[in-house]
Amino acid sequence: MHKILISSCLLGTPVRYDGTGQQLLHPQIMAWQQQKLIVSFCPEVAGGLPTPRDPAEISNDKVITNTGDDVTTEFKLGARKALQLCQQHNIRFALLKESSPSCGRNTIYDGSHSGRKITGMGLTASLLEKNGIKVFSEQQMPALVQALA
Ligand code: SF4
Repeated sequence: MHKILISSCLLGTPVRYDGTGQQLLHPQIMAWQQQKLIVSFCPEVAGGLPTPRDPAEISNDKVITNTGDDVTTEFKLGARKALQLCQQHNIRFALLKESSPSCGRNTIYDGSHSGRKITGMGLTASLLEKNGIKVFSEQQMPALVQALA
């Protein structure tokens, strides 16, 4: 069986910008845990950002916090580390948290820090997909399970 990279926050680890996790309770996750197939990763923490941290959004190819700090370098580093980890473990599939500026698969916030979402991908999701790793959000569990079968 293939290993799967999963956003740490979806496993309940409190690494989100606000210091919380957002555990995805799904029987398949428990089965993967028992089979030791899960590699947990948070690109923003791996990129050197603290928890909690200011929320950030993608704007014109940069990642900017709600207080105006440019954290593009940290986000890009986290994305590169995610790719390296996938390559080390020969990971072909990832389950990443929707709408995050790192992990978002289908939507991201629009950069205005006003809560509006647009179609788009986070930096890590985008880099993984560009390198042949299939990324699914937590809203696409059936498709991920099918792809792995
Ligand atoms: Fe979760 Fe990804 Fe945000 Fe880390 S960067 S808290 S793994 S959504």
